Amino acid sequence: MKIDAAREVRTTCPYCGVGCGVLAKVAANGEVTVRGDPDHPANFGRLCSKGSALAETIDLDGRLLHPEIHGRRTDWDEALDLVASTFSRTIAEHGPDAVAFYVSGQLLTEDYYVANKLMKGFIGSANIDTNSRLCMASSVAGHRRAFGSDTVPGCYDDLELADLIVLVGSNLAWCHPVLYQRIAAAREKRPDMKVVLVDPRRTMTSDIADMHLAIAPDGDVALFTGLLAYLGQHNALDRTYITAHTTGFGQALFAASALDLAGIAAATGLGEDELVSFYSLFAATAKTVTVYSQGVNQSSSGTDKVNAIINCHLATGRVGKPGAGPFSVTGQPNAMGGREVGGLANMLAAHMEIENPEHRDRVQRFWSAPTVAEKPGLKAVEMFRAVADGRIKALWIMATNPVDSMPDADAVEAAIKACPFVVVSDVLAKTDTVRHAHVRLPAAAWGEKDGSVTNSERRISRQRAFLATPGEARADWWIIAEVAKRMGFAEAFSHASPADIFAEHAALSAFENDGARDFDIGAYGGVDAETYDALAPFQWPALSPGTPLWPAEGEMAGRPEGGAWRRPEVKSSRFFANGSFYTPDGRAKFIAIRPTAQTRASPEYPLVLNTGRVRDHWHTMTRTGKSPRLSQHLAEPFAEIHPADAQHFGIGDADIVRVSTEHGEVLVRALVTARQRRGSVFVPMHWTDQFSARARIDALVAPVTDAISGQPASKNVAARVERFAAAAFGFAVLAERPASIDADYWSLARCAAGWRLELALEADRDWPDFAASLFGADAPGETLAYHDVAGGHYRFARFAGSRLTGALYLAPSPVAVSRGWAVEQLSADHADRRGRLAIVAGRPGGNSVDRGAVVCSCFGVGANQIAEAVRGGCVSVEAIGATLHAGTNCGSCRAEIRTIIEARRLHAAE
Ligand code: SF4
Repeated sequence: MKIDAAREVRTTCPYCGVGCGVLAKVAANGEVTVRGDPDHPANFGRLCSKGSALAETIDLDGRLLHPEIHGRRTDWDEALDLVASTFSRTIAEHGPDAVAFYVSGQLLTEDYYVANKLMKGFIGSANIDTNSRLCMASSVAGHRRAFGSDTVPGCYDDLELADLIVLVGSNLAWCHPVLYQRIAAAREKRPDMKVVLVDPRRTMTSDIADMHLAIAPDGDVALFTGLLAYLGQHNALDRTYITAHTTGFGQALFAASALDLAGIAAATGLGEDELVSFYSLFAATAKTVTVYSQGVNQSSSGTDKVNAIINCHLATGRVGKPGAGPFSVTGQPNAMGGREVGGLANMLAAHMEIENPEHRDRVQRFWSAPTVAEKPGLKAVEMFRAVADGRIKALWIMATNPVDSMPDADAVEAAIKACPFVVVSDVLAKTDTVRHAHVRLPAAAWGEKDGSVTNSERRISRQRAFLATPGEARADWWIIAEVAKRMGFAEAFSHASPADIFAEHAALSAFENDGARDFDIGAYGGVDAETYDALAPFQWPALSPGTPLWPAEGEMAGRPEGGAWRRPEVKSSRFFANGSFYTPDGRAKFIAIRPTAQTRASPEYPLVLNTGRVRDHWHTMTRTGKSPRLSQHLAEPFAEIHPADAQHFGIGDADIVRVSTEHGEVLVRALVTARQRRGSVFVPMHWTDQFSARARIDALVAPVTDAISGQPASKNVAARVERFAAAAFGFAVLAERPASIDADYWSLARCAAGWRLELALEADRDWPDFAASLFGADAPGETLAYHDVAGGHYRFARFAGSRLTGALYLAPSPVAVSRGWAVEQLSADHADRRGRLAIVAGRPGGNSVDRGAVVCSCFGVGANQIAEAVRGGCVSVEAIGATLHAGTNCGSCRAEIRTIIEARRLHAAE
């Protein structure tokens, strides 16, 4: 593709399911800048901290630039021939189910489409599953049970139109920050709008919540079945809607009434007064949107949670109406696109069903395929079990890192290592998964790729290239199609461009559809390259003109409302406004669900481990870990633990703790906070072997899944926490990444001019030797060191000319050197000897300010600076912004700023 460097290119952010529009520009000197696209309907110009820092993540450091076989560089022909011949031979010898693809919500729709087509239509197996299984499979299953289709009824506008937003298991402030900002802005305009947060933790999202229900882990089914019973008892049902548009209400209400209020309180860990407050607010507020994400989906009862929520919306007729509806928000940038093309092992393309013979026949005819998968394939957890026990003998992993992200991750790693043939297509040469590949295929990265993605509100946007593809990297769709050709399927995989693939995908969506299926973008069937290139973001459905389903303008007789082809003034569309669904009888289905409580803690493992995201990192940090800005917000893996639990287990703030489950253990920093629910411990999911010694938290997660969706339960694992008895703690800054780190605990993060490193060791060492192992024994330059043998302190600094190349601080307790100050010394000039001695001493000189932990990544403003400004009279987020700029760019830190202001106020009042 030809790149026009002078042009600002419209593309989309590669991180979360909000799907923000991004304008990217490459200057003549190669410098890339990004900003929010003011015309994109998802974000209207906003970007969060991750999106704002995208330009820092596109360097070629660590890129896989050439195909490799067993670590040897090769050319594409040899690599593709080997992949194709090995897959073909394995299929011939062991059948099509002996091979599998494990793909990713990071793939573009066109990549996904081709991978799914190859596996299901030409190999003849459905053994293709995706890391989106870990993200939203329970929502898919819940939608299909209730609506007869995997349809998200609403749109983002509903978040601004609602009078009540219920956020369930969703830390929107950190995980979908632009949606959080849209809600916060709407709330400022309409102070009567209410927000309820249902989450075991008091996350930053509580900043906009009028009510926080600190629910027990997996108490959601009980909470929402209790709500349904309450609606029935308090005459708050929409009986007309229930009668006209649904089935199964009686059974659902009967099942939901199994527990009385006291029973619901016991199952949820909430007070009866809290429950009644929430239930009465929900009952009284017609315009209610219930937003849910991983806290709902990542559970062994995830599908029931989704249906318990949908039941309450059906019972009140609040589906598909402006400002009302259940709303699943996806974690990944293209989880929705994957669903559309059948990237899940239990779906066919274009929202068709594998179990349905008519659907199979239709897809096979459309593809002119020799075969089509006849049964669902292996879902992610089952797939890696099949790799482990030898049923799968050839595995192709695309754009994902299962050695870190799958539950029981150590077992997954062992399975991959033992698999006879593993192919990994990736952007990076070194990830915890790539290291085990027999064949490594260099894939194009964000900024180089061209295709489309679908966000959480069914909006399809183009992701466009603005950088030339480096080395021999290639688009994923091209790699898959080349393998398909070599397997003998050249005609079906002759696509010349993403536009060709999109046109085929769109045509399939409309093929023999006539309104029978929700996913229909037939308006773009056969789209040409020019139109595709210029494609503006649009929501599906987008039907071909003349589709008989569609009513005359303004009428509401058809199923979906809106549609860009017919009514261009409609910017957002909703499904089910007229109460017609995709079930055989056209009615939505209530699912009878009995309230349950699911405590997993045991005497041996008395706590519940909850896993999730932090504000400034994404997945396994392969991209965000490159950004110094993003790496400073939370530079270490941590365990949030309630003060009472910390005291009980003898853990102090900043101790290193060992978190263990039946499946493994990690070493992370203790963060003692009352924001955590008592009895629970939270550890983020991002840290890998590339960034920490032992912090792959998914190695601790049991491979327990929801029986219907197959989604793993990543938020409710019985765990134990113990203090790690460290003999020494350390902190270092380094200009270069160390080749190896010989410490029990370590965590490495990028900073502006190098790296920062946290350390803990179980036993004392020869500290000069230890310093030499980190910085190189023979590295040139001046070395200054201080060793207090009796006190156990050791300090070391090395200079090359007037530049600091490394400093190390070791002590018997957590090192009290200001991290912000130390990191800045890597960029400072140290010609002055007194300044060098200050570095060894670990103390800022007289004029230096310790900024404290970074709060605002955009402007590098620290907690100490904000606290100082509060002391100086800035008592609002706006005043802090006016003084320090903090919170005035992406806004992702505004909730944290407000927390600091409140803390200072409370402190002053004491
Ligand atoms: Fe990207 Fe942030 Fe928008 Fe998500 S909210 S798409 S991470 S800019």
